[in-house]
Amino acid sequence: MENNFAKKLIEWYKINQRDLPWRKTNDPYQIWVSEIILQQTRIDQGTPYYLNFTEKFPDVKKLAESTLNDLMKVCQGIGYYSRIVNMHKCAKIVVSEYNSNFPSKYDELINLPGIGDYTASAISSICSGESKMVVDGNVIRLFSRLYNLKYQQNSSMMKKTIKKIAEIEILKFKSGDFNQALMDYGSMICSPKKYKCDICIFSKSCEAFKLDIVDKLPVKKKNISISQRFFNYFIVLDKSSKVKIHKRKEKDIWNNLYEFELLETNNKISFKEAESYLKEKHERLSFKKKHQVSHKLTHQVLSIDFWIFEVDEVFKLGLDIPSLNNYPFPKPIFSIISKIQ
Ligand code: SF4
Repeated sequence: MENNFAKKLIEWYKINQRDLPWRKTNDPYQIWVSEIILQQTRIDQGTPYYLNFTEKFPDVKKLAESTLNDLMKVCQGIGYYSRIVNMHKCAKIVVSEYNSNFPSKYDELINLPGIGDYTASAISSICSGESKMVVDGNVIRLFSRLYNLKYQQNSSMMKKTIKKIAEIEILKFKSGDFNQALMDYGSMICSPKKYKCDICIFSKSCEAFKLDIVDKLPVKKKNISISQRFFNYFIVLDKSSKVKIHKRKEKDIWNNLYEFELLETNNKISFKEAESYLKEKHERLSFKKKHQVSHKLTHQVLSIDFWIFEVDEVFKLGLDIPSLNNYPFPKPIFSIISKIQ
């Protein structure tokens, strides 16, 4: 490793570190919240969620006492909802088994739901000073370029190799600072496309820079197949303009969020097909309007048609439209609610 790598990095970090709300605390609960919210979520998107979350649930006890619905509502729109379900489970365990004191040691954290090596390393290095290295996408990009590492970017071999290279350096400084400095450097200087090699303090020893292959690294996984799905949501308004919703139980996406009646098809369906589907359930109905939304997820694109109909019935368990705001919905469904009437 370059001489004084960690020293140079920490000096850079002291001057340039990003001003992020979770950097102002060493409270393991708050660090845990930030780490979970930032999984698969960009910092600019995750920050408002973090601030709102910690305001609504300032400690683990408050979180454990909340309902999963409350929690989902606060996190509505964030995506990857299984992490939120795990947060709820984790909070309950911390209250019952750790007397509401959120653990900060790696060996305790790693046994909690939703906490893997990455999150346990991040919390324990920041809150307990344990020498655990955190290897995220920014760190992988930085090291793959510095050392011309050709392993596939998220492979375990890549992570193992980076940890091996950096393990001696991490012992020299506060490990929490070292980890955060690496992530900031990868994000701000060794960026995916707009890398700033001209001002980089490691350019003299950087293999990718010397070989002029910066844009080729890290090596990405090829051919991630994206599937297309066709969702038809039926928003059926009764005589009092009330609708029925249910909690989604499918494990594929949006588990535990709410939705309208769904018909998934292999292709887009016509108005006639939508109408005849509903006619089997309701005698008299009239079409009101249709909305279309396209929604991208990591490995799938959803083509969603919202069919809005009125029926000459009264729903026992119907809800009026304004009250839908109290329920957690997936983002594309929530965006339609204000357009129903
Ligand atoms: S020289 Fe360029 S590619 Fe190499 S570490 Fe610095 S910013 Fe990254």
